[in-house]
Amino acid sequence: MADAAELPWLAAPAADIAARQRGHALLVQGSPGAGVFELALRVARTWLCEAPEAVPPGPAGSARKGASAPCGRCTACHLFASNSHPDFRALLPELTQVELGWSVGGAEPAEEGEGGSKAKRKPSKEIRIDAVRDAIAWTQTSSSRGRAKVLLLFPADAMNLVAANALLKTLEEPPAGVRLLLVAEDAERLLPTLRSRCQRMLFAGPAPEEALAWLQAQGVAEAAVLLAAAGGQPLGAHRLAAEGFDAAAWAALPQRVARGAWEPPAGATLPRLREVLQKLCHDAMAQAAGAPPRYFPAQSLPPPAAWRKLADWSQSLARLARHDEHPFNLPLAVESLLAEARSVWARPRQRG
Ligand SMILES: [Zn+2]
Repeated sequence: MADAAELPWLAAPAADIAARQRGHALLVQGSPGAGVFELALRVARTWLCEAPEAVPPGPAGSARKGASAPCGRCTACHLFASNSHPDFRALLPELTQVELGWSVGGAEPAEEGEGGSKAKRKPSKEIRIDAVRDAIAWTQTSSSRGRAKVLLLFPADAMNLVAANALLKTLEEPPAGVRLLLVAEDAERLLPTLRSRCQRMLFAGPAPEEALAWLQAQGVAEAAVLLAAAGGQPLGAHRLAAEGFDAAAWAALPQRVARGAWEPPAGATLPRLREVLQKLCHDAMAQAAGAPPRYFPAQSLPPPAAWRKLADWSQSLARLARHDEHPFNLPLAVESLLAEARSVWARPRQRG
């Protein structure tokens, strides 16, 4: 997880949200790769800060009059920074917690086993109903520091129907002082009854120049290549760099995959590998259709492949995306994914 204090493009939208927020339930729509989770944390910290600072009016369209920012120095800000503010709770699926390195008070994601055993199981992709019920009970207790209580749900569409319905009443009539912060990449994937009870805010993310400047300040060389590789999302580009991709490795990837000579970075999970191949498949289809690629430099792509093969490959990757949680034998699954990719560019042998 990126430190919200390090993401310079969040201050203005966070102050703007704090100034425009009217009700007790807010739905922030934006991309995780642009920092929407970090934005929500900053908004929550602003609400809980015990000495919020006024934000000077910025350029047109940014922070409005009356907006405030967390001071970063009061007890509440320190408690928040160490994930131990008693009036803040974040509900995240276990898988998201693992991906973000997020833990509350240093706790590991809960482990439950059949018959009370402590057997490891796969981290869940859902916000569990028992976690929602527990959080609702928590909202009904009084605020520890007397300022507010903030419940954050990220991503809010990770609640199943039962969990979402359990939250409805709290969303409609929360106890005094309770604020709910729902975050989703695509608000349309939420129940309409949830959406209609929230004030909606859209987070567009940083301008490309701002994202590039930040990546460069983080020491990412040839940041523009990795920013494109991540679909324009700076946190995604930062993650690629952390995973061992540099611009040269990224640009070499398409031809290596086509030759069957690509070694995925050590520790790459099946979903990550599938995402990379989906990007390559997207760009190969764009190339075949005469459109510019989105993720890879145009000159890095192998010669155009047959449309039929690309279409089959695309469908196969999409099917895999629906079964990412299956307990595949990882080395075998990786091998078969790479063999499938290579076959897209394999040419029938010419008769001599
Ligand atoms: Zn503060």
